[in-house]
Amino acid sequence: AQHLAQIQAYNHSLNAFLEVYEEEAILKAVQVDEKIKAGTAGKLAGLVVGIKDLLCYEGHHSYAGSKILDTFKSTFSATAVQRLLDEDAIIIGRQNCDEFGMGSTNENSAYGPVLNFANQAYVAGGSSGGSAVAVQAGMCQVSLGTDTGGSIRMPAAFCGVVGLKPTYGLVSRWGLIAYASSFDTIGPITNYVSDARLVLDVIKGDDGQDSTLSSITPAIQNDKKRIAYIKEVVEHPSLQPEIKEAFQRKIASLQALGYVVEGVDFPYIDQLLPTYYVLTTAESSSNLSRFDGVKFGHRTEKAGDLLQLYKRTRQEGFGEEVQRRIMLGTFVLSADYYDAYYTKAQKVRRLIQDKTLAILGAYDFIISPTTSSTAYKVGEKTADPIQMYLGDLFTVQANVAGIPGLSIPMGVDSEGLPMGFQLMTSPYQEQKLLNLGELIN
Ligand code: GLN
Repeated sequence: AQHLAQIQAYNHSLNAFLEVYEEEAILKAVQVDEKIKAGTAGKLAGLVVGIKDLLCYEGHHSYAGSKILDTFKSTFSATAVQRLLDEDAIIIGRQNCDEFGMGSTNENSAYGPVLNFANQAYVAGGSSGGSAVAVQAGMCQVSLGTDTGGSIRMPAAFCGVVGLKPTYGLVSRWGLIAYASSFDTIGPITNYVSDARLVLDVIKGDDGQDSTLSSITPAIQNDKKRIAYIKEVVEHPSLQPEIKEAFQRKIASLQALGYVVEGVDFPYIDQLLPTYYVLTTAESSSNLSRFDGVKFGHRTEKAGDLLQLYKRTRQEGFGEEVQRRIMLGTFVLSADYYDAYYTKAQKVRRLIQDKTLAILGAYDFIISPTTSSTAYKVGEKTADPIQMYLGDLFTVQANVAGIPGLSIPMGVDSEGLPMGFQLMTSPYQEQKLLNLGELIN
């Protein structure tokens, strides 16, 4: 009830939820209450959860923040969503996001931007902007977001909450509307690290539906008490001075805990974003070809023939950023340019992966600020897509390498805007990541 009251009070201005399942949530709360009394309640009994508009939930709409899916209702639930329900979580609504997860500020949603609860002149971050603000504003306890290049961690940092991107292959992508399939992950946004751990425990693991899921569960590695930061990141010209200072204070507190913290070189810093954007646009141009006006979602009323049906449906349904990425992706996959861009980017991806894992062979964690600046003013970056892409510099490494990343709050700057601290570690070492995250949060 307290969460519904927050939604009532703030959602019209913040625009975090696209739909609130008020009656359903109240009904479920009553049922869960009875289960608690009977001693039969699940692990997440009564946990109030919001889900990003990219996740399918049986009998409910999922628009992916897009006009092209504005009539779509799913006939099944995503594995992650189903597992929350099975453990008696209460799903309170569907959260605004950038269209198909493509964006860093939530301004690419066909349903309007999400505003930051710390200051409504600023964006929430993206693409899981609605999910982060919902937790920030107390509209739910936990959100389920998705992270392809930072979309959980970046809005978590902009909103001063916790965001966990799991290892690629730990949480099934079944029922997640695909953006870039070899990068997409699902994870929690929460107030507390302990809630992120609880939710991850429930949603992770094989479901027989996602062939990239691993059934191997490596043991927790010992903590060698060695932490690396990438020198090129900490010395990056785009890094806001107050964030750098806060980051240095975090390093000091890690040293006080007995960690050796050292700067290492990472020679591919300038290749991170190009690699990420070549590969994700390629994958998305292929994934989004399914939206053709025939199978699901929007269909143009102005089609004369089949080709026109495809073209007009997609023109009317997709927003500008999505169209830009489909064109870029189609270009890098075209016969004449495939080797020069797509194959090249795959090779660089491997180099980035190898180097990242080599660092994590010698150190327990790689740390950085989550973002180089605090939240942008609404509209500040929308005119220039390159400026927008640059904001993902510190987060994409985890997705390119497939490793887990956690963003925890790192205080606020002099304007009161939240800053984020990022920890990354080896694949499948989420418990180790969460242990340290919890200790220093
Ligand atoms: N901002 C990045 C992009 O636009 C990341 C998005 C995401 O993680 N879904 O691709």
